[in-house]
Amino acid sequence: MGRSYEIIDHTFDVVVLGAGGAGLRATLGMGAAGLRTACVTKLFPTRSHTVAAQGGIAASLGNMAEDDWRWHMYDTIAGGVWLTDHDAAEYLCREAVPSVIELEHLGVPFSRTPEGLIYQRRFGGHTTHYAKGEMAQRSCAAADRTGHAILHTLYQQCLKHKARFFIEYFAIDLLMDEDGTCRGLMAICMEDGSLHRFRAHTTVVATGGCGRVYKTCTSAHTCTGDGNAMVLRAGLPLQDMEFVQFHPTGIHGVGCLITEGARGEGGYLTNGDGDRFMPKYAPHEKDLASRDIVSHAEAVEIREGRGCGDNKDHILLHLEDLDEEVLSKRLPGIVETARIFAGVDARKDPIPVAPTAHYCMGGIPTNIHAEVLNPRDGDQVVPGLMAIGEAACVSVHGANRLGTNSLLDIIVFGRAASIQAAKIIDRDKPVAEVAKSSEEKVLDRFDAIRFSRRGRKAGEVRDDMQEIMQANLGVFRKEDTLKKGIEKLEKLKPDFDEIAVEGEALAWNVSLFSALEVQNLGDQAVVIAHSALNRTESRGAHIRDDYEDRDDKNWLKHTVAWRAEDGSVTLADRPVRMEALSNEAPPVPPGKRII
Ligand SMILES: Cc1cc2nc3c(=O)[nH]c(=O)nc-3n(C[C@H](O)[C@H](O)[C@H](O)COP(=O)(O)OP(=O)(O)OC[C@H]3O[C@@H](n4cnc5c(N)ncnc54)[C@H](O)[C@@H]3O)c2cc1C
Repeated sequence: MGRSYEIIDHTFDVVVLGAGGAGLRATLGMGAAGLRTACVTKLFPTRSHTVAAQGGIAASLGNMAEDDWRWHMYDTIAGGVWLTDHDAAEYLCREAVPSVIELEHLGVPFSRTPEGLIYQRRFGGHTTHYAKGEMAQRSCAAADRTGHAILHTLYQQCLKHKARFFIEYFAIDLLMDEDGTCRGLMAICMEDGSLHRFRAHTTVVATGGCGRVYKTCTSAHTCTGDGNAMVLRAGLPLQDMEFVQFHPTGIHGVGCLITEGARGEGGYLTNGDGDRFMPKYAPHEKDLASRDIVSHAEAVEIREGRGCGDNKDHILLHLEDLDEEVLSKRLPGIVETARIFAGVDARKDPIPVAPTAHYCMGGIPTNIHAEVLNPRDGDQVVPGLMAIGEAACVSVHGANRLGTNSLLDIIVFGRAASIQAAKIIDRDKPVAEVAKSSEEKVLDRFDAIRFSRRGRKAGEVRDDMQEIMQANLGVFRKEDTLKKGIEKLEKLKPDFDEIAVEGEALAWNVSLFSALEVQNLGDQAVVIAHSALNRTESRGAHIRDDYEDRDDKNWLKHTVAWRAEDGSVTLADRPVRMEALSNEAPPVPPGKRII
């Protein structure tokens, strides 16, 4: 087939791919530092999944009770079951305080205490005095719409700094040179179908998570991890992909999230016998234990026949005992969500909930400056490539992310990316050309999908993949079901390779964009499955029925996984960084899990 695309060329210092909280915070910082910056996004910025974040953003401000960044750091490492890198945890928790104050000054409308300080609520796994004191009040909240407040403020600030947005531009692939340098990316304008080559000194991947590999999840339909799949195609690995967080309170059967903040304000869970079961599993934190512990407890209750409802397949979340004022002021969105999606008036009746896929702890391995690392190359920085937000794995979340640490991650590392870019980019240097061969490779793949007419529809292939992931890679995992999952995904590979696209149109060809997204999801599903089979221990969100114990001797290390074009996955490991940045916080050596 003769190819005659007219490609529109753009040159910037930096191209940020994604306009969620991570992408916007980076874009804002780059613009403020005087770097010529483009932000490319398939969604209108304020429709990114960050907008759905409810409960809050962690920072040890100590506005409502005593707090300390060192306690926050301890919780982040221990809550991540020691797979968290200690230098990254220190950076996250120390920088949390100035980063949130900065958000306040930028105009985020946080809820307030009577004294006018930022309101802070309790959240799972956040403690004081290294888990020996009370639960911390650390989550800075704007009612139950914190992500909404942050995202809108950041977008306004980016406009103020005159950042260039390319909205509803779908990125197809990164443009990588033969020597492994990233030169930019290729995107298609969804509105008119034109192709665009973005060249830049630095490309920042901020494309969010891949929650949609699962059938029931709290993530938006657009959370397809496109950037992670691009990185795999560039011959680079993803890290710790076996760690998928299941949130304890997704609405049963639907998946919509009821924030942990609901339990932070005093809500609690009961099983089919009407018992509050959490004290049995976590006597100290109870309903506010870490997410992996609560989800696991729910799944055990259900598996042992103590679930609720006719099918004994869910748990009940009670908010009806909370004060009317708490519900209307602090949790108004939750009351509405429960009414619309569960048909329940949360003021009077409990909400049916179940563990639901929520967050990817894994992603593109980076250092604390957001630079992507290549483990095959002695962890050298990949020139020209950064990754931030849910797409990245710094790793600050280890095997289990604490609630409110992700909004923090996207802000702190979005900011870190802009600080580093301002340092390393030489504005006077011309932006390099892209090798013809790398562009051809990207366009070959694009054409293969665009002109694919046989095969099944994207939605059908996606449904099959989601069923497989749900059945074989859920809360409980074991060798035979994991192997079966991998086999089934392998069988589905020809279907992924040949998805039927309707029509050659490039402008708003929804079937073309769906095919691109579903292929991206498929690449990550395979990596998740192989990484999960490989890790023969239980740690955080990765719970193996056949290896019930945590095994620090053999598994205190990160998984890294490459995916070849033929679908095969190669695995290796990277050490966990156990050295903090300073000696100002006590060391957190691996120990017994108490939060
Ligand atoms: C319902 C829900 C509630 C949550 N609540 C909280 C909370 O209270 N506290 C907390 O800390 N965390 C919370 N989280 C997690 C947190 O919100 C997310 O992890 C975080 O917002 C992700 O931000 P991001 O910027 O990395 O990605 P996103 O916000 O998902 O943004 C991704 C961006 O990438 C762009 N993009 C993707 N692919 C392409 C492509 N191919 N071409 C062009 N652009 C592309 C999209 O347009 C979008 O702008 C919640 C998550 C969910 C799902």
